[in-house]
Amino acid sequence: MRDNAELLGAGDATIEEAVRHADPMALRGVLYQLTGDEDLRETELTTVVAGGFRELRMVAGEDHAARIRGKAEEFLKSYRDSGAGDLPIGPAARLRDSLGLAVGDQIPAEELEQWLEESAIDPWARGLAWPEPGSAPAAAAGFKVAVIGAGMGGLNAAVQLKRAGIPFTVLEKNPSVGGTWWENRYPGVRVDTPSRTYAHLYGVNFEKPYPYCPASENEKYLNWVADTFGVRGDIQFHTEVRSIGWDEGDAQWVITADQPGGSVTVRANAVITAVGFLSRPNVPHFDGIENFHGSWFHTARWPAGLDLVGKRVAVIGTGCTGYQMIPEIAREAEHVYVFQRTPNWVYEAPGYLAPFPEQVTWLDRNFPYLANFSRFRAAHMQRPQNSLPGLQVDPDFRDEHAVSSINKKIRDQRIAFLTSKLGHRPDLLEKMIPKAPPMSARPVLIDKDYSVIDVLLNDNVTLITEGVGRVTEDAIELPDGSRCPVDVIVLATGFRANDFLWPMEVRGRGGQRVEDLWAQDGARAYIGTMLPGFPNFFIIYGPNTNLLQGMQIIGMEEITTRFALENIAGLIESGHRSVEATADAYWRYNAEVDRAEKLMTYMDPRASNYYQNDYGRSAANGPLDTRLLWNWLRDPAGRRPDGATPAIDPSLRDSYQAIDPHFGADLIVR
Ligand code: NAP
Repeated sequence: MRDNAELLGAGDATIEEAVRHADPMALRGVLYQLTGDEDLRETELTTVVAGGFRELRMVAGEDHAARIRGKAEEFLKSYRDSGAGDLPIGPAARLRDSLGLAVGDQIPAEELEQWLEESAIDPWARGLAWPEPGSAPAAAAGFKVAVIGAGMGGLNAAVQLKRAGIPFTVLEKNPSVGGTWWENRYPGVRVDTPSRTYAHLYGVNFEKPYPYCPASENEKYLNWVADTFGVRGDIQFHTEVRSIGWDEGDAQWVITADQPGGSVTVRANAVITAVGFLSRPNVPHFDGIENFHGSWFHTARWPAGLDLVGKRVAVIGTGCTGYQMIPEIAREAEHVYVFQRTPNWVYEAPGYLAPFPEQVTWLDRNFPYLANFSRFRAAHMQRPQNSLPGLQVDPDFRDEHAVSSINKKIRDQRIAFLTSKLGHRPDLLEKMIPKAPPMSARPVLIDKDYSVIDVLLNDNVTLITEGVGRVTEDAIELPDGSRCPVDVIVLATGFRANDFLWPMEVRGRGGQRVEDLWAQDGARAYIGTMLPGFPNFFIIYGPNTNLLQGMQIIGMEEITTRFALENIAGLIESGHRSVEATADAYWRYNAEVDRAEKLMTYMDPRASNYYQNDYGRSAANGPLDTRLLWNWLRDPAGRRPDGATPAIDPSLRDSYQAIDPHFGADLIVR
């Protein structure tokens, strides 16, 4: 039942005012779906470029927008006047056109299911379905899963397992849920991908008060997930996993974990590890820091209640975290010294720090399915066809600084932005222009009007690019011996991103350590999740799944979790005990990754960041078109009624067929 009291109590003026704040394209799609009004097709559209290279179709001109808004007002008033009861989504056969109208593009038939998922019209589209809906087979009761981590990925695994009726327990080192959003509490911390797509499918209607929600809102969402879907009681908090080993005789994983009262052992038939890879702080040693009299800490260990008013603060490190935090610290601290080794390309987002106008959240609550169409529209902009050209090198393009014509355009725009802010300070401007091309490091989103770039002009902020010499009792000394007197040192030095699963000790068949498997050139996995010799072991946000296109990380986590559950269901239904990828499949898949990676701008030799590991490849990023990943991860056990071989765009067919992630093919079941 919809909670309709708010809409029933709304006057016409409230509805009209709210609709004025809506995106006419999202309204167009949802109205077409709910009413079938063919006149909506006649809207004139235009194309704008967003984020430097992604094309976005918009309604052209106020007349066309006003016509759509007029229809939306009329619809909502009449829905209110009819009692605002539950409203079905309308004909399934119309959805492809409705989604297409919301984005001003045809949805290819072979992508429809994928985009329908993104719309979250079915909040459980990425869950597990049993042949008899809602009823797990009896054998499921004897199969236990251990989930490691209760952040975004681990909570989703818990929710999906619970819904599927498969027994599980979650082991979480922290005292509460939230993962990253529990750990990172530095000033200014917020998500910098659109919040509309930063929720699981079943969270589509959870209110997002900001276009880019602060950590507290993200944490609130994850607590809502834990409570709404009843998994909090399945989580063992204060439980830090130390080791995971495969017991061949019992075909079980034996997990040891530290708890405040001592060590505990958990046995499970399968492990889903969701520990993240931007999780363990990278804490470099600076000479003399042990003698520092003030406080020093990593950004992910921000001391509760720390008051920076009147303090002199050094920030070492200028990735997303440093750039996000510095303008907030500069509001309070007496002085901020910014120690920057490598500048990062910044992308201004108007309203990055501001909440949505209240009319936007009002409409999300009261216009049926508008949140679904808005989410879909935000997700669709990231589609591989619209993203990969901006992320790849054009081997025929010649330029000293850029790697393709799009890349050059992005670079020129970025420099124009920096120049608009710092043009009168050529000393600062020069230091803020990265040497490596855009997209070779994580793009850093900033507020257009108040960001690190603006505060560099403040009297209380000093940019230092000479590096840290050593730390004394009350200062940081530069290599030339000059001193920056400081009370607090903040290490915004990132995470041990390339040490996947570390510091857990993970041993598969025959005691093989995961580090041995990865000894050649760093962490890899089969489709980002499975390891040969490590049966029934699934990594969420594993190697090469940090996606820069196609879908948000959370979507990747959802489809990987579905893959894990489909595998588990396949075992339960067939009576087998274990499933794992063959070594051949692991390397064949990784050959595809390596081939695609050669084209990626993040492999540029001028770049040096966690996108590349010590072996000159990326263990983090996903270079493959995400339509491949979605298809590969869809049906490992051949459980879907519509068959295991969905249609795929012809340009992807060769890659698609190189991998055969099915029981009896790339996946061995025993
Ligand atoms: P990061 O991108 O790895 O940046 C670490 C910074 O520390 C770099 O500037 C690095 O300089 C510097 N550094 C490392 N070791 C150093 C040393 N020994 N001496 C001096 N400087 C040193 O880490 P991050 O900023 O925490 O971001 C990590 C990722 O977390 C992001 O890419 C993003 O995916 C995520 N994140 C997201 C958000 C968001 O959504 N808003 C916010 C924060 C983080 P060099 O570059 O010269 O090595």
